[in-house]
Amino acid sequence: MSAVFEFEGLSVPPGAMQRTRVPFMQLADGTAVSMPVMVMNGARPGPRLYIGAGIHGDEVNSIALVARALQQVDVQQLAGSIVCVPVQHPPSLYSDHRLPLAQFLKSPLDQAPADAWTCFPGQADGNLAQVVAATLFRMIRKCDFALDIHTPTRGGRYVPIAILPHAGIGPAAQVAEEMGRALGTGWVMRGDRGMYVSDGILCVEATKAGIPALTFEIGEGGRLEEGSVATGAACVLNLLRHFKMIDGTIEVPAVTHVMRDFLGLRASRGGLLITEVKLGQAVKQGDLLCRVIDIFGDEVERFVAPVDGLFVRATTLSTVTTGERVATLGLL
Ligand SMILES: [Zn+2]
Repeated sequence: MSAVFEFEGLSVPPGAMQRTRVPFMQLADGTAVSMPVMVMNGARPGPRLYIGAGIHGDEVNSIALVARALQQVDVQQLAGSIVCVPVQHPPSLYSDHRLPLAQFLKSPLDQAPADAWTCFPGQADGNLAQVVAATLFRMIRKCDFALDIHTPTRGGRYVPIAILPHAGIGPAAQVAEEMGRALGTGWVMRGDRGMYVSDGILCVEATKAGIPALTFEIGEGGRLEEGSVATGAACVLNLLRHFKMIDGTIEVPAVTHVMRDFLGLRASRGGLLITEVKLGQAVKQGDLLCRVIDIFGDEVERFVAPVDGLFVRATTLSTVTTGERVATLGLL
């Protein structure tokens, strides 16, 4: 049977939806800062799914697509429950930036690590990023599965892509892979190295704690785009159908690209970036991906695909400096 959802004073009975806030910090003037939480406790029994978005404050598509999806869910028809934190790091959103700039700029050393996404399972008496992660992880621990939704940070654009925790975690990672395929993005990253599978990342730590979880990246940072919102919402609804929490058939693209690694290419020269391939395009070794021209119009650098791959992440900022990423391939 369905259970009452309880969390730190919050109590939501079956068949009820509640929008509330969970406090986690105070500002210098005593203002309490809280994170928004929406609990949809379905009238029918089923799994409990955590959905988080906006842990990076410039990833607005993630917030909007969750809202779009959940507005289509009727709690009276829902089997199981959804615990949704649409803005997982409010001070980052206030900064309209990946990081909570007010805190970070005030004391960069003390705020390190500054990215809450990398600080799971968190630390209740740690710095802000660790406190945010700890607060979120207490909610995640009350759930059976978790989905963490992102866009690239400002200046980047991804195809819709499900990024899995590394398979070495064990059976919970296999469940996460099934979730990733059911999401129906058409793009799955099943890697075993790099940032997305590092210890401390939300989906990695949740999966290690026995709560299968994955990262979902879509669209572009700092922008709200109808296409990404509609596609992302459809993917979230696919996942709810996968768990039989709502009725309907999962709609998955005809082809799903399962990749094993990302390959980022970085500029050695500075200038203006011109991208020559379309996002999602398959490229062959030697194909031209992008060029850098200097401010006089002379071409100073050309980037060709070092191997065959898929152009899964574009750089959308128009200027580049030495060391900046200009293109990312997904490797099959
Ligand atoms: Zn992010």
